[in-house]
Amino acid sequence: MRAVVIIGGGVSGLSTAYHLSKAGIPSTIVERRPYLGGVVRTDSAHGCLLEAGPDSFLAAKPWALELIRELGLAGEVIGSNDELRVTYVVKDGKLLPMPDGLMLMVPTRILPMVSTRLLGWPTKFRMGWEVFRRPGNAPSEDRSVADFIRDHYGEEAVDYLAEPLLAGVYGGDPEKLSVASVLNRFVELEEKYGSLSRGVLAERRKMRRKEGNPPLFQTLRGGLGKLINTLVSAAGHSINVIEADALAVERHADGYRVVLSDGSLDARHVILACQAHEAGEVIRPLDNPLADLLAAIPYNSSITISLGYAKSTFDCRLNGFGFLVPKRERKRVMAGTWVGTKFAHRVPEDKVVLRCFLGGDSNASLQEGDDALVETVREELREILGVHSQPMFWRVARWPRSMAQYTVGHQKRVEEIEARLSGTPGVHLVGNAYYGIGVPDCVRMGKQVAERIATSR
Ligand SMILES: Cc1cc2nc3c(=O)[nH]c(=O)nc-3n(C[C@H](O)[C@H](O)[C@H](O)COP(=O)(O)OP(=O)(O)OC[C@H]3O[C@@H](n4cnc5c(N)ncnc54)[C@H](O)[C@@H]3O)c2cc1C
Repeated sequence: MRAVVIIGGGVSGLSTAYHLSKAGIPSTIVERRPYLGGVVRTDSAHGCLLEAGPDSFLAAKPWALELIRELGLAGEVIGSNDELRVTYVVKDGKLLPMPDGLMLMVPTRILPMVSTRLLGWPTKFRMGWEVFRRPGNAPSEDRSVADFIRDHYGEEAVDYLAEPLLAGVYGGDPEKLSVASVLNRFVELEEKYGSLSRGVLAERRKMRRKEGNPPLFQTLRGGLGKLINTLVSAAGHSINVIEADALAVERHADGYRVVLSDGSLDARHVILACQAHEAGEVIRPLDNPLADLLAAIPYNSSITISLGYAKSTFDCRLNGFGFLVPKRERKRVMAGTWVGTKFAHRVPEDKVVLRCFLGGDSNASLQEGDDALVETVREELREILGVHSQPMFWRVARWPRSMAQYTVGHQKRVEEIEARLSGTPGVHLVGNAYYGIGVPDCVRMGKQVAERIATSR
């Protein structure tokens, strides 16, 4: 009997398996897809490096970089080209640059805020007054991100800053997302300073003194797929991968039996490194209320569409990292990235790659064929950017129900899940549904679970 079975071979499951292998504990990964990495997948076409899922990780969260260094990939790390960082927002059909000095949706510089055409004068005045807010009247219960930002900066800041920015990260709706889970740091700053702008400025001064000015995003020269491949090779014979659907976890002898689409596996520890709704279904025979709690974490679907063009025929002036499309603008494209501008080593000199995101609540577009999706995106790119050129190639990646949504009350839901989970010792949860959505958080959680198992032996 292998002591540990991991259900899900995304970055969470692989980080767990790798850290277990370091402690001398072998594991079996059950993954239904014919490849490992989950939503992390690097493809290539016509000499361009294309990320089908995440393209980078936030440098401020150290856990992915720690792992990368440990795997001997430090020399492969590249930062985003922050000197070229401009993000545009579509307003009334036009592309307007986000003002300089925004920390997410918090303004920290006066002049760019005064001169921006993205926000009207009432919002600008309100943002200016915000610095005089004093601590002491913040509500203690969780709120939506939209309510929180509305309270500080008004409605227009929700529509043209918070909503498009968070849609770009979570594929989610700020009216539903929990501020305590998604912008926890801002809640702390509100408690301490009252004003978010004053709080962010104070914190930034401290950070700069400590760390200089690191790039915002980091990635690997060869794409994040390299992290997956290196993790798998580093774990070596300690991991055994089975391509199958995990259907159920049942109690068996002094451990558990994992029922697969083809056979079964017995284990002392079962790690659910799959989406929470999947974990819920698998665990249902063991604990029905726990399954319901897991199923209550909502997920959104997303699609990435990369379009590659010959630079000589591309008819749009390139500038900045990309653009965001607020919901109010009623488009299906939520965001777009100029891949070759954001990172070096992605796109050869003679090509241009635009990566677009579709998503949000609706699963409808997942059923649409590639040609129809590409046609929709091209039509919207004509409207937004004025791109009429014919792409040389495109790649479509669909990620059904892969982005967990930390909606209002998320922390309480996770506490209930943890409390309930303590009734099934040996069953563990990792993944993007609990304590952080990004790659670094998934790496961290995998390490923590592995350490917990290693010390329990
Ligand atoms: C389009 C997109 C862009 C993103 N961009 C970024 C970014 O730039 N930076 C960043 O930090 N984060 C980003 N994220 C988020 C981050 O990539 C994910 O949260 C993280 O990779 C999730 O890893 P995971 O292993 O928890 O889950 P997944 O990658 O979803 O892996 C779960 C795996 O479990 C398998 N599975 C599920 N159920 C079963 C079952 N019953 N039996 C067997 N196998 C099963 C699935 O097939 C899947 O492979 C992005 C996510 C998406 C979708």
